[in-house]
Amino acid sequence: MIRSPEVSKVFEIANTEERKFLYEHEAKKLCGLYGIPVTQIEVAKSEDHAVEAAKKIGFPIVLKIVSPQVLHKSDAGGVIVGVNDEKGIREGYNKIISNIKKNVPTAVIEGILVQEMAPKGTEIIIGSTNDPTFGSTIMFGLGGIFVEILKDVSFRLVPITSTDAWEMLDEIKAKKILDGVRGMPKSDKDAIVEILLSTSKMLTECPEIKELDMNPVLVYEKGARAVDARIIL
Ligand code: ADP
Ligand code: MG
Repeated sequence: MIRSPEVSKVFEIANTEERKFLYEHEAKKLCGLYGIPVTQIEVAKSEDHAVEAAKKIGFPIVLKIVSPQVLHKSDAGGVIVGVNDEKGIREGYNKIISNIKKNVPTAVIEGILVQEMAPKGTEIIIGSTNDPTFGSTIMFGLGGIFVEILKDVSFRLVPITSTDAWEMLDEIKAKKILDGVRGMPKSDKDAIVEILLSTSKMLTECPEIKELDMNPVLVYEKGARAVDARIIL
């Protein structure tokens, strides 16, 4: 299989820095190269740079920590959503840095991610683990309590076909949520299937990926978008 040099470049940067994971912006870059919709994103190295990036991307904005020691960003106070103006960017930038200094004193801060805030949608999770015997798996579930508490998920080995992807949607117990119940909007299942297929292609072409966690992917009546992506190498 011949993958694009741009894909290999993402891994080379991590390799050079002897990093065993990709930062969110790198993971999203990779996802984007495989056609998975992600949020527009920029890494800011200063407060002014963050303001400039936010103006370019457009409000509302989400700010997040970029640090090798902070992979679970909100647990450490490293995520601020719904920033609406320049003042908010400046305050948020400094607030995240002070939160991280307090909560993870050993953390090296590489920058602050400035990203487009996606509208609310139905939260799903798409993930992968690499089983030493069977190879790479792909996992699908609904966000929040459905995966974390109820373990309501479906799995396949990659690569998957479109039939497999549709079956994965059908296998979870809470599948009715995708059809829109109790006044909740319907979810675009075609868009989810597209993401599952693109993810399968990415996993097949990138054996470097030991673990993938797109949590959450927000699904709309039309379309879907990954707002967080974590990749372990
Ligand atoms: P963590 O590393 O803690 O999983 P996330 O990047 O998932 O951090 O951010 C925490 C939460 O903030 C997400 O579960 C989501 O609800 C919200 N969020 C993060 N990024 C965005 C975004 N770009 N647009 C909208 N909501 C977002
Ligand atoms: Mg997350």
